[in-house]
Amino acid sequence: MKVRIRVPRYDAATDVTQKFQIYTVEVTPTTTVLDALNQIKGHEDGTLAYRRSCRSAMCGSCGVMVNGRNILACNTRVMALESPELSVNPLPGFPVIRDLVVDWDPFFAKDAVMLPYLITDTAPPESGERLQSPSDWQRIENSTRCIQCGCCSSACPVQWSNSAYYGPAALTRTYRFVEDSRDTATKARLDLVGNETGVWRCHTIFNCTSDCPKGILNTENIQTLKRKIMLSRLGLGRIEVRSRVPETV
Ligand code: SF4
Repeated sequence: MKVRIRVPRYDAATDVTQKFQIYTVEVTPTTTVLDALNQIKGHEDGTLAYRRSCRSAMCGSCGVMVNGRNILACNTRVMALESPELSVNPLPGFPVIRDLVVDWDPFFAKDAVMLPYLITDTAPPESGERLQSPSDWQRIENSTRCIQCGCCSSACPVQWSNSAYYGPAALTRTYRFVEDSRDTATKARLDLVGNETGVWRCHTIFNCTSDCPKGILNTENIQTLKRKIMLSRLGLGRIEVRSRVPETV
């Protein structure tokens, strides 16, 4: 089966506007969008620029928007999209460097603000390993699947109009440590995101959840952070609101 693939061509260093190019690619039931791009680059046009690395949905490099949805090119089969023409675009809301390659610096700068590492004021155990119970692990399992692909933040209309907004990926990062039974910096973390560039900017549009290739409940995570911030500000002691278990509100 032949599929037409429409790709914008643009170089931020030299071009003022995009132009589009259409390639025709032969695909089989197992051809992924990344395979199709590789086919173009390897056999038709070596100048096409896009990112890829692991080819197994682990590195988060190959996020693109295809026919209006953000996806990982490496784990999306062309035929599953059921369209004779694919419109492949760079992740929206991110500055484009060239063709499908976007500038990740602002995205990772926001992640760095979230203190993306365990903070604890307790001494390490003799074994050196800070263990968790299975139920404590369950509280963070979903959020630890994040591969930092940016599909969620790129799909968020709030982020498109307000680049200062931390966005769902960074907020899920905060959620992941706030819910971690070993982390003791909960208040500092909630203060970090309880402002107009943090959780209160989320309008619960759910694009971040529907476009996450790892099934992460970004919107729900942000709402949990909102509830925890409110309880913290009301001085209601230990912050016990858990995802999917609204115990106190
Ligand atoms: Fe990608 Fe999902 Fe992580 Fe967002 S939450 S960066 S969409 S894996």
